[in-house]
Amino acid sequence: MDANLAQQCPACDSQSMVTSQTEYEVDHFGAVLLSVSRCGRCGYRHDDVIALTNSEPIELRSNINSIEDLNLRVIKSGTATVSIPEFGATITPGQYSEGYISNVEGILGKIEDALTFMLNTAKGRRLQKGEVMLRKMRAARDSKPEFTLVIKDPLGNSAIVSSNPKKVRKHNLTRRQLRKIKFGEFAAP
Ligand SMILES: [Zn+2]
Repeated sequence: MDANLAQQCPACDSQSMVTSQTEYEVDHFGAVLLSVSRCGRCGYRHDDVIALTNSEPIELRSNINSIEDLNLRVIKSGTATVSIPEFGATITPGQYSEGYISNVEGILGKIEDALTFMLNTAKGRRLQKGEVMLRKMRAARDSKPEFTLVIKDPLGNSAIVSSNPKKVRKHNLTRRQLRKIKFGEFAAP
């Protein structure tokens, strides 16, 4: 992509958004493209990540059951829905959701942040439920992880990376599953 070609900024609408892309090699996975867009006028920034090895709609599942598993590398693209069924937690991507390379612990941190933010305005049962969820997540991170990390990505740009092939279960999303997730309509038929 031509790095000098300015695009429209979603924050201030000026034609000042410039994107630069860098190819990056992830061990046990392959090449990914890191893309950083920045608006020269208002400073808006948007990052995303694109897997160069896969483009099929996928669901990834990994049982996280040790402290070491918290270090598993996770590539989460802007179109991925991330959930942890045991905690009842799901993060649905918004229109301008960012993509990034992190690890399982980093993903937990992002979910905690989102939950903490939501709890600021929650009341009653919703607040109680949220606090229980938050406690479970913190305990899992600090002492004994025992949960499933699920990532659904209609564009297949996400990955959970392990040197052990049994650690991550991967299968293609069906048409029916695609209809239920955000951005599923953009998946290749
Ligand atoms: Zn702008």
